Amino acid sequence: MAASFIDKARITVRAGDGGNGVVSFHREKYVAAGGPDGGDGGRGGSIVLVVDDNMSTLMDFRYKRKYVASNGMPGQGARKSGKDGQDLIIRVPRGTLVRDAETNEIIQDMSGSEPYVLCRGGRGGWGNMHFATPTRQVPRFAKAGLPGESHDVILELKLLADVGLIGFPNVGKSTLLSVVSKAQPKIANYHFTTLYPNLGVVWVDEGVSFVMADIPGIIEGASEGAGLGHDFLRHIDRCRLLVHVVDVSGSEGRDPVADFDAINEELKQYSPELAVRPQIVAANKVDIMEDPENLARLRAHAEELGYALFEISAASHQGTRQLVGKVAEMLSSLPPVTVYQAEYVPKPPVIDASAPLEIQRADDGHTWLVEGPWLQRLMGNINFSDYESRMYFDKTLRESGLFQQLEQLGIQDGDTVSMYNFEFEYQR
Ligand code: GDP
Ligand code: MG
Repeated sequence: MAASFIDKARITVRAGDGGNGVVSFHREKYVAAGGPDGGDGGRGGSIVLVVDDNMSTLMDFRYKRKYVASNGMPGQGARKSGKDGQDLIIRVPRGTLVRDAETNEIIQDMSGSEPYVLCRGGRGGWGNMHFATPTRQVPRFAKAGLPGESHDVILELKLLADVGLIGFPNVGKSTLLSVVSKAQPKIANYHFTTLYPNLGVVWVDEGVSFVMADIPGIIEGASEGAGLGHDFLRHIDRCRLLVHVVDVSGSEGRDPVADFDAINEELKQYSPELAVRPQIVAANKVDIMEDPENLARLRAHAEELGYALFEISAASHQGTRQLVGKVAEMLSSLPPVTVYQAEYVPKPPVIDASAPLEIQRADDGHTWLVEGPWLQRLMGNINFSDYESRMYFDKTLRESGLFQQLEQLGIQDGDTVSMYNFEFEYQR
């Protein structure tokens, strides 16, 4: 059976929750009442993506679709923090785009070598050791940990190559790659031999090299999904230059000019941007050319459109050096391989703040402990060092009616409102 090449996958990832803080008091023989010594919960493990150059497909994600990092452990007495949850490292092939599953916006382009934190683990809750103040010496409360972030994402592989080979099946693309690089793609005299993309490094000269990609042949109608190839075009999206291989031998009874136009039309259907990418035409199989007229027509046609044409025979290594030299020369003045910018902007979670919160007045009479499922979720998503995020937090609290509730219960100016890992002084 055809080897399956998986270059798109949808997965769900979830960072670990923060551990809870604990309530504990220092105890020693013969010492009556010690101070609060409850430690903090550990941070939940994050979901971290890293590039692995030994991977070339997203096959691993076909069966395993859910990735969950571990939770932080609860705190302990004697001021001991709980253990942090372990980060979950997910390896992806270089060139993987991470997209938001809902909007398809790009979250991150995994082309570089920096690890990327996709979901942050929840912060641990504070133990009661943090809550002792001169007026509040016996804090009998601690805080719950915050939930970890979660996300449904689509992974999409877009290979990183300087040069993409395009052309009909069986024209000699894989042969060319195998001749100019050390790559060993499958070569055979039938259509659709190449079932997945191959990359090869082409060494030109001391310090001059480039990466060439061979993709499964594209056929007419492929851009509408008619056949193999459409999905593979994404692998040449980043290419700086295309080498358009055309069979000029006439051995299959094909017309090279019609072939050339058909492929360019396919490119245009798929992406107008890709259709105007610089191209070099490689007129292949000149060793078995039956009618030189075909080659002459193709040359005239290509040159009229402004493309350079090289006569080659990939199989007998004719003309390939000249072709490679021209490719290197053109690359030296072309912009680098595309790295995609992030489009996705995290949106505040949709929070239904209508459910009542649980309010508890601490023993000191001046601390108000506020908890509730939506508040916990909200706080897990708020970045307190970000102004916008803080404003959103304020607004949600105000609109929830929390402050009216507190007033009714008798809160005074200067009292402390304590929610999860956040405390503030109440002012009317
Ligand atoms: P692809 O489908 O475009 O990747 O084509 P392949 O590289 O698999 O080649 C298809 C067939 O054409 C194979 O049988 C090759 O040996 C043959 N072939 C490739 N290049 C040449 C060439 O320059 N001359 C001749 N005579 N045959 C070639
Ligand atoms: Mg091939």
